[in-house]
Amino acid sequence: MTASARASRGISLKSPEEIERMKRAGKIVATVLAAAREWVAPGKTTRWIDARVEEMIVDLGGRPAFKGYRGFPSATCSSVNEAVVHGIPNRKLLKEGDLLKLDVGVEIDSYYGDSAWTFPVGNISPEAEELCEVCRDALAAGIAAAVPGKKIRDIARAIEKRVRETDFGIVEQYVGHGIGRELHEAPQIPNYVAKGFADLDIKLRPGMVLAIEPMVNLGGPDVETLDDGWTVVTSDGMLSTHYEHTVWISEEGPQILTTLEDV
Ligand code: MG
Ligand code: MG
Repeated sequence: MTASARASRGISLKSPEEIERMKRAGKIVATVLAAAREWVAPGKTTRWIDARVEEMIVDLGGRPAFKGYRGFPSATCSSVNEAVVHGIPNRKLLKEGDLLKLDVGVEIDSYYGDSAWTFPVGNISPEAEELCEVCRDALAAGIAAAVPGKKIRDIARAIEKRVRETDFGIVEQYVGHGIGRELHEAPQIPNYVAKGFADLDIKLRPGMVLAIEPMVNLGGPDVETLDDGWTVVTSDGMLSTHYEHTVWISEEGPQILTTLEDV
């Protein structure tokens, strides 16, 4: 979601029963993303992959959460190469060396799950590999910092620290978010320690559920939106990557809900 420096209000803490529902949503998201790994290949289109994803979500009893969200037309956000997030699936053939960022949201039983993964199309360049690895590491570091008693700032700092070990750019205009009965809830989670960003001082408490989602660019941090009103691309046209998990902050620490493993 788009970053705003204003403080978020009304952060909801989920009950154990709500967490159980969110586990179901997360499991469907994870199942679909695992299946999509087999669908991404040179010669396929993002529209074809999107149709498979939608079919599978519905078969598993869920609803594709992005479809119709503020008028978004598809089940997935499918963003290729310089597209960072919010790409609309289309009929262009994927080709060897492309990077496809597939973002999937599911609602079931009034609760949401949200996760994104970057899929290499065939063989990708070493620098694209490195870009993906750094973003995955940054996500893992952010998740590891999602511990009761710490702050949103600690998540942001952990993500930023990993990326700053490289020359890659961190996307600043889009942020992670709370999630639950709504796809996007308070608070906002920037992927760097953003000056004057009020939500950074929010303390992490058991029962919070956060979608943590670093976006990392091979070049500079700047992004812009295409004329379709959705697709966010890097301003310098260079590659971007995006990984996201829905994470429950439990008494014991962070638990990824968008996983195939039993939580
Ligand atoms: Mg997402
Ligand atoms: Mg999200």
